[in-house]
Amino acid sequence: MGLNVSLDAIAANWRSLAARAPAARTAAVLKADAYGTGAARVAPALYAAGARDFFVALPHEGRAIRPLLAPDARIFVLSGPLAGDADLDGLIPVLNSAEQFFRDRVTRKKGAFAIQLDTGMNRLGMERAEWAAVRAEALEAVTDHGTGPALVMSHLANADEPDHPSNPAQLAEFRAMTDGIAAPRSLAATGGVLLGPDYHFDLTRPGIGLYGGLPFRGARPVVSLDLPVIQTRPVRAGECVGYGHAWTAPRDGRIATVAAGYADGIPRALSGAGLRLWAGDRACPVVGRVSMDLITVDVTGLDRVPPVLSLLSERQTVDEVASLAGTIGYEILTSLGSRYPRSWTGDQEPAASPPPQMPRP
Ligand SMILES: *Cc1c(COP(=O)(O)O)cnc(C)c1O
Repeated sequence: MGLNVSLDAIAANWRSLAARAPAARTAAVLKADAYGTGAARVAPALYAAGARDFFVALPHEGRAIRPLLAPDARIFVLSGPLAGDADLDGLIPVLNSAEQFFRDRVTRKKGAFAIQLDTGMNRLGMERAEWAAVRAEALEAVTDHGTGPALVMSHLANADEPDHPSNPAQLAEFRAMTDGIAAPRSLAATGGVLLGPDYHFDLTRPGIGLYGGLPFRGARPVVSLDLPVIQTRPVRAGECVGYGHAWTAPRDGRIATVAAGYADGIPRALSGAGLRLWAGDRACPVVGRVSMDLITVDVTGLDRVPPVLSLLSERQTVDEVASLAGTIGYEILTSLGSRYPRSWTGDQEPAASPPPQMPRP
């Protein structure tokens, strides 16, 4: 019962994204608790698979996983140092403005840093003029990590649409801003990895593809979610079910009430949207409104109602559920997991062949 996360599938997805960008390092994006799958379990599993570069959004997310990873793992903080959040020990802030850059050089002196450039998304990072103002100082900065930024990166606005003209436009802008620098460069998230080698540079930053979501069509499914049936009842033709009596039974049948609702991250927009829960290979329509803690399901066709009905499995993916709700897999994944018991399968043991160790004296 509950939300099950396959660490083996996450590691396999990481390896197959890494294989698509063989000339680059492949990082792993772990923001928002690894897209709801549990960063504390996912980070060590990806380290064991070979990942050494990790991205989170906020410093506290980085501090939570730092002790779980060996010192050679680098953890980048995409939002950089936020005001009042001084403790970045062992984390690498991504500096997104000239102001963040100059403040960071004063407060952290030799601390390693990364730079984010805005190449056309207009969301985060330095634009040309701002980069021009800090570029020389940034590229020559001496840090504990070496000279210059640990990474110079940018982010694509439309990488999930391979033919979108902003992809080559952002690529050209990134090149114009960074060609010739010695620092390692990064442009691609999951979508960018799939756009091909021009987009890979020195390091890729996949997130959603690791967790089984589009646009990585080749992904192995990662999350399964079974919901407990807490009551079943007969309904007669013409009786109505749930808030607003939004559904009327067209014939005599049977309703199962399942313990999950919008407080668990199942969007209320799924009411009347054609969502189904699965009893083995039998699809059962969700009927009536999704309420805070409960969902009602038409189980009329079943000979026996099982103790759990499945929302996510190989039969119904995160992206299928997202599209019924009018959203994207990212939002479904990051919304789940707040209240379910979560379990993780796979990769409980250390990797069969651990990464090579330094010889001991
Ligand atoms: C979230 C994020 C990623 C990962 O994106 P996916 O589409 O999930 O692969 C990479 N880079 C940045 C800057 C991000 O914000």
